[in-house]
Amino acid sequence: MNWWQTDETHDPARTSWVESAQGHIDFPIQNLPFGVFSPAGKAPRIGVAIGDAILDLATCARLGLLAPSVAAACGEPHLNAVMALSVADRGNLRRTISDLLSRPAFHDSLAGAIHPATDCAMHLPARIGDYTDFYVGIHHANNIGRVFRPDNPLLPNYKYVPIGYHGRASSIRPSGVPVVRPRGQRKLPDAEAPVFAPTARLDYELELGVWIGTGNDLGTPVPIAQAADHIAGFCLLNDWSARDFQAWEYQPLGPFLAKNFHSTISPWVVTPEALAPFRIAQAPRPEGDPAPLDHLAAAEDQAHGALAIGLEVFLSSAKMRSAGMEPHRLSAGPAANMYWTVNQMVTHHASNGCNLQPGDLLGTGTISAPTRDGFGSLMELTEAGNRPLALPSGETRGFLEDGDEVSLRATAAAPGRISIGFGECRATVLPPR
Ligand code: MN
Repeated sequence: MNWWQTDETHDPARTSWVESAQGHIDFPIQNLPFGVFSPAGKAPRIGVAIGDAILDLATCARLGLLAPSVAAACGEPHLNAVMALSVADRGNLRRTISDLLSRPAFHDSLAGAIHPATDCAMHLPARIGDYTDFYVGIHHANNIGRVFRPDNPLLPNYKYVPIGYHGRASSIRPSGVPVVRPRGQRKLPDAEAPVFAPTARLDYELELGVWIGTGNDLGTPVPIAQAADHIAGFCLLNDWSARDFQAWEYQPLGPFLAKNFHSTISPWVVTPEALAPFRIAQAPRPEGDPAPLDHLAAAEDQAHGALAIGLEVFLSSAKMRSAGMEPHRLSAGPAANMYWTVNQMVTHHASNGCNLQPGDLLGTGTISAPTRDGFGSLMELTEAGNRPLALPSGETRGFLEDGDEVSLRATAAAPGRISIGFGECRATVLPPR
C-alpha cells in the first residue's frame, strides 16, 4: 500500500466501543496516534489515543494481541523502536489496533488496558537524537526576510534548497511544560553595545514536526521516491523564539540561543497512515520559479506530498484566564503553504549522506498564510511589535508577556472523511530566572 492510499481503518462508518471516540475532535478511531504516557503513579509506556482515553499497548502486547514482529517494540518506554518499524509492520499494527478498538468482543478483555486520558501524564514520545528546523513556509520566509532585509527578503538559494539549520534536541518538551523567559544578548539599533537581559521580544512559531522512522546509513542518501518510507509521523511544534537575540546573533552562522532555550511539541505521533486520506497535491510553483533539481523531484511526491491540515494559534493571557475568558485565536491557515514537501525535506537532509535516525525530529519552519489572518508568528502579526494586536481583555501584545499561554491546533479534513486532530500543544510563559 502506498503512503497516500487508504484502507478499512479509514472507513468513516467505523466506530469504537470507547464511546468518546465517536465525533471526537482529535482522536476518533480513524486517527490512532502513538504516544508515551504514565497512568497515575505508574511507569511510562506506549499508548494509543482513542477519544478521551488511552489504550495501553504494552498490556496489549502482554496479552498476546499484537503480532510477534511488533510486540517487543510496543513494550518499550519510548517510541524509537516503533518508529523504526517497517512501513508494512506499522500498517499491520494500525489495522490490529483498529480491530481491537472497534470489535465489541474486546470491550471486556481490554477494560484494564484503557485509561482515562485526564488521569495520565504525557511524555516526550521518543528519545530525540537530533532536531533540525527547516524554513519551508515561504510566506513566513518572505515576511521575516523583509524585516531583516527589506530590499532582499528571499535569498537566491531559497527556491533551490530547502533551507534548514541544526537545532537542539535536549530542550524539546511536551505540551504543558512552561517555558522560562530566556536571558541573552540583545542590542538596540542605536545602542553602542549589547546588554545581557531577559528577552523583550519573545515569540512563538507555528510549525509541523516530522518524526523520522527508519534511518539511512551514513554515506547513503534517501532517494525522493523512498523518502515517505522514512517518516514515522507528525506533531505540532512551537519553536519559541527570542527575536531580539536572533537579530543580534544570527549572522554569519544562523539561529543559536534565540531558538534553543525551549521547543514545545504535541506529544501524540500522528502516523502517515492516519494522514493518508488528507494527502493533496503540492501547489504548482509560481510562473518563473525554477523547477526542483532532479534529486528533489518526483511525480508521486508532487501529486500527493502536501497535507490538508488546518492550523490555528490561540493566546490566553493570565488576565483572560482569571476572568474566565476563552483563548483568543490569533491566526488560522492551511499547512499547504509550504514551498517544499516533507519528503523533499527528508531527501535534502540525507542528500549529502547525513544519516537520519529513528526518533529524529524535523521542523517545517513557521507556516504562514499569505494574508495577516494566517501569519504564524507575532513577528509577522505585529510587524515586529510595531502594530500591537488587541486581546479581548483590553490588553495589547507586540510580543509575549509573562503568564501568556500559547496553544497550537491542527486538524486534518477532507470531503467524505472523518476529521482527525493532533491534540494539545500548549505552554505558558514564566518570568526569567
Ligand atoms: Mn522555526
